[in-house]
Amino acid sequence: MKKYDDVIIGSGISGLTMSLFLALNGRKVMLLEKAPHIGGSVARFHRRGFSFDVGFHFTGGLQRGGMLYNMLSVLGILELVPPIFFPEDAAGCVFLESVNQRFDHPYGIEKIKDKFKGYFPKEAKAIDKYFDMVQSVCKRTPSLNLHTYTFAPPRLEEDFISLDEVLRGLTSNQLLRAVLSVYSMCYGVKPSEISFANHSRMCIGLYESIAFVKEGGNGFIKAFETKFKDLDVEICCGRYIEELTNINDNKVGCCILNTGEEISADNFIFTIHPKEILKILPKKHFSKAFFNRVSSFEPSAGFFAAFATLDTAYEDPRFDLPIVSIFPNNDVNKLLDPNYMGKPGLVVLKSMEHDGNSKRRIIHILQPSFTEHVSAWSASKTGRRPQGYKDYKQDKVEKIKEHIFKIFPSYKKGFEVIEAGSVLTFKDYLNSPDGAAYGVKQIMGQFNLLGRLSLRNLYAAGQSSVLPGIIGAMMSSIVVGRSVVGKNQYQSFLSRNLCD
Ligand SMILES: Cc1cc2nc3c(=O)[nH]c(=O)nc-3n(C[C@H](O)[C@H](O)[C@H](O)COP(=O)(O)OP(=O)(O)OC[C@H]3O[C@@H](n4cnc5c(N)ncnc54)[C@H](O)[C@@H]3O)c2cc1C
Repeated sequence: MKKYDDVIIGSGISGLTMSLFLALNGRKVMLLEKAPHIGGSVARFHRRGFSFDVGFHFTGGLQRGGMLYNMLSVLGILELVPPIFFPEDAAGCVFLESVNQRFDHPYGIEKIKDKFKGYFPKEAKAIDKYFDMVQSVCKRTPSLNLHTYTFAPPRLEEDFISLDEVLRGLTSNQLLRAVLSVYSMCYGVKPSEISFANHSRMCIGLYESIAFVKEGGNGFIKAFETKFKDLDVEICCGRYIEELTNINDNKVGCCILNTGEEISADNFIFTIHPKEILKILPKKHFSKAFFNRVSSFEPSAGFFAAFATLDTAYEDPRFDLPIVSIFPNNDVNKLLDPNYMGKPGLVVLKSMEHDGNSKRRIIHILQPSFTEHVSAWSASKTGRRPQGYKDYKQDKVEKIKEHIFKIFPSYKKGFEVIEAGSVLTFKDYLNSPDGAAYGVKQIMGQFNLLGRLSLRNLYAAGQSSVLPGIIGAMMSSIVVGRSVVGKNQYQSFLSRNLCD
């Protein structure tokens, strides 16, 4: 029987981070991945010679001293993940169709404030107060600082107030509320459901800087692979746990894989969706209340995605920005509501990576979408879907094109959708229970699954634990990983590896 210190289940950015963190701390790690390749949501796919990203387009926190910068730095892969910063003054915009007006979104908190005050001069006080509140939440959140070793930080008052309540208290201007809620698309929860605290923790990185990474999500995967070569990490794709066995003294001794192999380990650390964890846990060791609690977690929004290219001759110079959010309705609660029947919002992401030989630029278009929209075909599998589903996809693509051409008329000539994916596509390819973009919905007051479970050598991390996105997923692994290695070892590891 093979023996490891830690078996990590799931090789998305959380599993990669967890494996590297533990291996750097001298542990022997097995990384188990159900799919044929590692990377989960951050892995790119290729069609007709073009590379498309799935679950990584842009991030905050890559500026010196930023949260992601620090995490990559302690993992020793900072140099291997070169950021391509968006132009500070032209990072993105939200186009509100009801008023036919575009609101630019620079980065740098003072710059954003100035820009927004220019659009909404009578709302200067509300804008200042909003950003003061965001910064105050982040200062009081220990997990946003790698030096603070707190496993269960105290909840703040702002953890129990929704973003919507805060915005309504600050301003009656619905346009400003929409503009300040634009990054809800980066965590897929309605402003009325997300706490102001978690909204702030998600947005702070994007307020400080926004960057793309060379080679997109694959840039991260390659960096981890390079580092694994010198460490004790065994990667096993196409494998998953069938059963946890040898349970004594509240500890799991080993697991049996789908291949029949038996693996023994000191710890089993899950970075997969909590509902997928439930499928593996031995029921008699967990309470019914625990199972009911985790089963009741709702999914975040998902996306219908169109993966397209654009002939550079037809770019629209008026919208020469990497991120353009198009909101046909100023109420973001509606745009993120599965029952909303109006015209959906779109996030258009124009790649900044440009292959000198190609005259085509990569465009990703994401439209909020939900399991409810595809429930008719939920029992079917990729590659064997019925005609009705194919028609649904085709119709979606046509409507997206129509919507895009209305905003960027020049695209009519040079734009081509190469591939499309629905929530069901994400569900199948990412082995997630519902195809949501960000795992479990971060609902105010909900306690997600994080850290040690009731069998004491099983742990949960991943995007559904702390916060979603690359930063939230990696943070969850550092928070859980450091409780595995212990406080003293973590602190000496940090002092050796974190550059000033
Ligand atoms: C369309 C889209 C766009 C996004 N854009 C961005 C963005 O621009 N920036 C950003 O920061 N975030 C973005 N996100 C969110 C980001 O991708 C995720 O929050 C993050 O990648 C989640 O990482 P993870 O490791 O927790 O989960 P995942 O990436 O889902 O990884 C989980 C892995 O576990 C594997 N697995 C599942 N079950 C098992 C099992 N039983 N045994 C073994 N393996 C298993 C899966 O195959 C998968 O590889 C986006 C997400 C989507 C879907």
